[in-house]
Amino acid sequence: MNTAAIKTLPGRYCNSLTEYSRFVTREVAIGDVPMGGNNPIRIQSMTTTDTMDTIGTVEQSIRMVDAGCEYVRITAPSIKEAQNLAEIKKQLRLRGYNVPLVADIHFTPNAAEVAARIVEKVRVNPGNYADKKKFDQIDYTDAEYQEELERIYKKFAPLVKICKEYGTAMRIGTNHGSLSDRIMSRYGDTPQGMVESAMEFMRICETLNYYNLVISMKSSNPQVMVQAYRLLVETMVSEGMNYPLHLGVTEAGDGEDGRIKSAVGIGTLLEDGLGDTVRVSLTEEPEAEAPVAIALVERYVERAKGERLKAKGNEISDEKNLSPFTFHLSPPIHDPYLYTRRHTYEANAFIGGHMVPRVVIDLSQKNLKDPSVLNEAGYLYSPLLDKYNMADQSVDFVYLADQLPSFNFPGNLKQLYNYKTWQKLSDKTNCHPLFTLQEYVDAEDSSSALNLVLIKLSDLENETFNLLPFDQKLVFVLETDAVHCMAEQRSFFFKMEELAIDVPVIVKRSYFFEVGGQKSEVGSQKYKVGSEIPATHHSQLTTHNSQLQLNAATDVGALLVDGFGDGIWVDAPQVETKAITSTAFGILQATRSRISKTEYISCPSCGRTLFDLMVTTQMIRSRTSHLKGLKIGIMGCIVNGPGEMADADYGYVGSGTDKVTLYRGKEAVKKNISSTNALDELIGIIKEDGNWVEIAELSVS
Ligand code: SF4
Repeated sequence: MNTAAIKTLPGRYCNSLTEYSRFVTREVAIGDVPMGGNNPIRIQSMTTTDTMDTIGTVEQSIRMVDAGCEYVRITAPSIKEAQNLAEIKKQLRLRGYNVPLVADIHFTPNAAEVAARIVEKVRVNPGNYADKKKFDQIDYTDAEYQEELERIYKKFAPLVKICKEYGTAMRIGTNHGSLSDRIMSRYGDTPQGMVESAMEFMRICETLNYYNLVISMKSSNPQVMVQAYRLLVETMVSEGMNYPLHLGVTEAGDGEDGRIKSAVGIGTLLEDGLGDTVRVSLTEEPEAEAPVAIALVERYVERAKGERLKAKGNEISDEKNLSPFTFHLSPPIHDPYLYTRRHTYEANAFIGGHMVPRVVIDLSQKNLKDPSVLNEAGYLYSPLLDKYNMADQSVDFVYLADQLPSFNFPGNLKQLYNYKTWQKLSDKTNCHPLFTLQEYVDAEDSSSALNLVLIKLSDLENETFNLLPFDQKLVFVLETDAVHCMAEQRSFFFKMEELAIDVPVIVKRSYFFEVGGQKSEVGSQKYKVGSEIPATHHSQLTTHNSQLQLNAATDVGALLVDGFGDGIWVDAPQVETKAITSTAFGILQATRSRISKTEYISCPSCGRTLFDLMVTTQMIRSRTSHLKGLKIGIMGCIVNGPGEMADADYGYVGSGTDKVTLYRGKEAVKKNISSTNALDELIGIIKEDGNWVEIAELSVS
């Protein structure tokens, strides 16, 4: 293939670590909606109906297209479903919907070979296309490994030849949870194993001169997923490939958790210009997924045009107001393929070092005469007892600016005041000053515990920075007003590493949203398939809360997945405090930096699903959501579910009509039990393991 157009990557896996630059992939034809190259980032999703239910599948596909999907994926577990894709396609075309269809294949090459003659694209999972999982650990010699590759070639080559003949595209979609025994034996359950799993299949395609490929590296753990995509890009480029990337976080769950987890994984990659299509997997109706994907992608429409923007609200600034600051960055010391938390000292035995990242919220505009104002910060005030009960998600600092509360605060909640106001406090217990850089340099007094100093990337080139008195009470609060704020804040961390400065850093991000206007009409908006999503179109986000979840999870989550940040401060004056608190803790949970609740790894469901996933997930959640730190997998089928649960502690997996199999880790401990008592049985197993706790609130004075 022609590799002349493939750029080398200064950031190793992306064009630039400091400014938005889309990694241009080769264009792949998928029906009338090409992907990659300079095409817009495409939106897609997958049906949840039984593929044999033609009308149900057609109607759901139409709802998905109307919600913004540009491709519709449909499961084809066996030949009969693959054949029925022809009828589904016919019915869609009769109704005027030319959306390209994608057949989703696991384990069944014969179904793939039928589907490839009917639909515009097939998706194969290299972990199970030619292999059945037996969880065998085998030490292959190089010759034996080569034999395995030849075996795969024999199974896979016929499909490639059909795709070539029919002009069908193919996604080679690796899943972290379903790597083959061969890959697991040689590479383990690692991003490298995920990449190699796809590369084996990609190399076969190239041997056969077939290049109509799209690649994905999904995981339910955003950190693993991000590392795998990065490594994939670097590996592809080193082998002269530039196939489009399909981005997704698998089994992300539902509601806020699902959105935040998806945004952390997908958003982190989009920030670095990676990604040609996005599928958000939520345990909700599939038409609920496209608006989230659109909201994630639309932030990059203007950036991709190379227009220079300034983040103040969502306004486009005129040239002269733009920050001319450019930072000269040395190659980062940080390894983008391996999580390592940035080394910092532990300030006041509270922040930095090995401490969990701290959460700051702004209460300065609230009624500070009423102790219940702290409810939304996770401190539940009981007027009867005049005490606070601490919730699982209770913030660590509240910023009060220059406002003085008229009630006593809980003992473990720190208050932040502007320096001049802090100076005047008679009792400074648990109260800490927030300085500007200049104030701190000029200050005559400071706290003997913690001093927080506002800083921006550009400050590092100011004289004032060189005058900064360093001691281990100092904590930076990193602000930005750049549009590509993540890259700017990341540059600050790179520079800290380069200068060997180990001051803990709280990442602060402020959001202002457009008021009024477009959002109410979005539900009825119909996208023209193949068209670019209008920059001004605001997706079906019902509230600013939803926008905040996605934007903050992208911007702050992208730093945390790389181990940057000892605290987070999300500011959004138009969003209620409770939602800000919940978003902040959600981001920490999704990045696995600080666990404050149960994690649900629930599949989005598809035509294989054996129970109502949404209802079941809600039922399980209602009885286990207080089990902080446990990971519970909820999977619709036994074929893929156990593999896809990844590192769940327990699994609830559909294994037949009204039948469930329960897992402890990867081991099936109760097989095919009635779904009526399955949840009670699951709780029994959790209790047996000593992992059950009764709901109780921790009381604090
Ligand atoms: S685990 Fe869920 S989404 Fe995956 S194949 Fe099974 S039912 Fe479908």
